[in-house]
Amino acid sequence: MIGFSLQKTKRHFTEELSVKFPQREAEQLMRILLEDLFGIDLKRQLMEPNLRIDEFQYAQLKAAVERLLAGEPVQYVTGMARFGDLLIKVSPSVLIPRPETDELVQKICTTLPKEASIRIWDIGTGSGCIAIALAKHFVNAEVYAFDVSEAALEVARENAERNNAKVQFICDDVLHPKSEIFIQPVDLVVSNPPYVCDGERTAMEANVLDWEPETALFVPDDDPLRFYRQIFALAKKQLNSDGQVWFEINERMGVGMLELCHEMGFSKAEVLEDFAGKTRFVKTWTAE
Ligand code: GLN
Repeated sequence: MIGFSLQKTKRHFTEELSVKFPQREAEQLMRILLEDLFGIDLKRQLMEPNLRIDEFQYAQLKAAVERLLAGEPVQYVTGMARFGDLLIKVSPSVLIPRPETDELVQKICTTLPKEASIRIWDIGTGSGCIAIALAKHFVNAEVYAFDVSEAALEVARENAERNNAKVQFICDDVLHPKSEIFIQPVDLVVSNPPYVCDGERTAMEANVLDWEPETALFVPDDDPLRFYRQIFALAKKQLNSDGQVWFEINERMGVGMLELCHEMGFSKAEVLEDFAGKTRFVKTWTAE
């Protein structure tokens, strides 16, 4: 018979992966490769052990496993990541969406009615995941998503198209903003800007450090809140009277962020924890 059985293929590559990864992680990586490279979902993986993997697919798996063994994140290997129930294309020009960022979106979605006619800015959109998820949820929203990287925006535009979301993507540097949109009113400002301090590099996992885009991650040690300060300055002028600003933050910056909120005139501010109990989000709002 041509090709290899799914079962044998799985066993072979899981064994190769287990040189670097714990057994369970190796199995999970194999599951992701089969699903995201070939569309063989978990149910079929379990129910159809005799499914044939052809030679071309086998070679693709071999190359993917080599990349995983070299430390590349599986989402870059497959080119895909999950964000809530969205499938998001990723490339090394964008950060891989994190579960805490999905949590941020979920929290925002509970604060306003689905039908609210609001204008949203997502600053530093990367893969577009936040903007797209919000555009899908708030059906009447006008969503603008900004990034300094044209390469990231290319990925983001493709993601909006694939997920059938209406988002306007704009290339601009929020530290030196030029877009006309920034001088128009807004109701909801969201950002997951770079927030990892240069000095924290040593504590980071190699698969983040070696593969993910630096400009999306790092801020100088002497000014770690620079993006938040700038976003507050823009929001302060344009935010409507019942507007909100939401941020994802570095878990070590909760106190500093609250100070910044007050300093920038956003006295109604709250720090929220993520699912792991880490100080991860800041919400500020203007209504009484
Ligand atoms: N949460 C990401 C990480 O820990 C950082 C994201 C960011 O800098 N905005 O790698």
